[in-house]
Amino acid sequence: MSTPSSFGTHHEQVVFCHDEASGLRAIIALYSTALGPGLGGTRFFPYASEADALADVLNLSQGMAYKNALAGLDLGGGKAVIIGDPRTDKSEALLRAYGRFVQSLGGRYFTACDVGTFSADMDVVARECDFVTGRTVEHGGAGDSSVLTAFGVHQGMRAAAQFAWGDASLAGRRVGIAGVGKVGRHLAKHLVDGDARVVVTDIDRDAVSRLVEQYPSIEVAESTEALIAADLDVYAPCALGGALDESTVEALTAKVVAGAANNQLAHEGIGKLVADRGIVYAPDYCVNSGGAIQVADELDPHGFSFDRAKGRATGIFDTTLAVLERAASEGITTAEAADRQAEQRIREIGRLSQLRVP
Ligand code: NAD
Repeated sequence: MSTPSSFGTHHEQVVFCHDEASGLRAIIALYSTALGPGLGGTRFFPYASEADALADVLNLSQGMAYKNALAGLDLGGGKAVIIGDPRTDKSEALLRAYGRFVQSLGGRYFTACDVGTFSADMDVVARECDFVTGRTVEHGGAGDSSVLTAFGVHQGMRAAAQFAWGDASLAGRRVGIAGVGKVGRHLAKHLVDGDARVVVTDIDRDAVSRLVEQYPSIEVAESTEALIAADLDVYAPCALGGALDESTVEALTAKVVAGAANNQLAHEGIGKLVADRGIVYAPDYCVNSGGAIQVADELDPHGFSFDRAKGRATGIFDTTLAVLERAASEGITTAEAADRQAEQRIREIGRLSQLRVP
């Protein structure tokens, strides 16, 4: 993916939203609606500056366009950021004011949860707005999207194992998970159930203790650095972005990298470094689209079906394998292969709306 210009010249639309009384300061960015309305979550974060918030929303909305395209969804890419501390600045009035701005886009943008926003917040936004996903199950929503995100990451990891070792089974493989929050802990369960040997780390010691209490076979590494340097077959970054940089790639013993974190490559050159070291990197937005698939299912006219969404997320196995095989046959990095695949779908399917239907 090319780095977006700070003026958003590659983006269709960028909207600044301000409501002084509630304290709302938000930016909504639509990268592309070629495949359908832009779907992407709302990040509520104490950005140091408006420029930081803008850069983030431009980057994230582009990422959503590629993720949704590669996941086979009829949805474009959008994202929103609310500037503020969610612990102190979030209020009913602020969320509802935000909902009115989303509504004003008339369905070009569908929102969802992201860092700092939860399903209960989406229920509040939905009181002012028809274009909301990720609501609670009680309100007809898909609930916590980390369930199918983790399921999809597991599918992508199995595909990478198939590519690397000719066998999709992770039984007996040593898998390191950095970050056992909402996604990481579900992923750990899938792996333990599949007889993998799991090692975890998290800066939140309670999160680790809760998991080990549930699954005593899980080992604990002191830090992410210690985990990376441990003897691993698979490394799953499930905390923050930028997990792979020069020093982590140098230290990594794992043959496969597949995890939930967004924007895992610290910069574009890392993809080549990873490939040169013979590491199979399953691109982040390829394997972590299960959550998008889950919330997108809410838009089905018959309402949300977990089984249908899960069935669709199973397809992440085939998509990941196709991306890895494309990279090998075209002599490009796996990140480039994912981008090409997504761009191809946006081009081929996006143009269909030019065929006039009476
Ligand atoms: P979360 O906040 O619930 O969990 C993240 C965990 O990482 C926390 O337990 C945190 O303590 C830990 N962490 C933070 N910094 C760390 C560090 N330096 N070392 C070790 N652990 C650290 O978030 P989540 O919903 O589980 O999401 C995890 C990642 O997956 C994020 O990058 C998110 O953007 C991405 N993602 C999530 C979803 C979803 O549906 N939740 C979907 C797609 C992508």
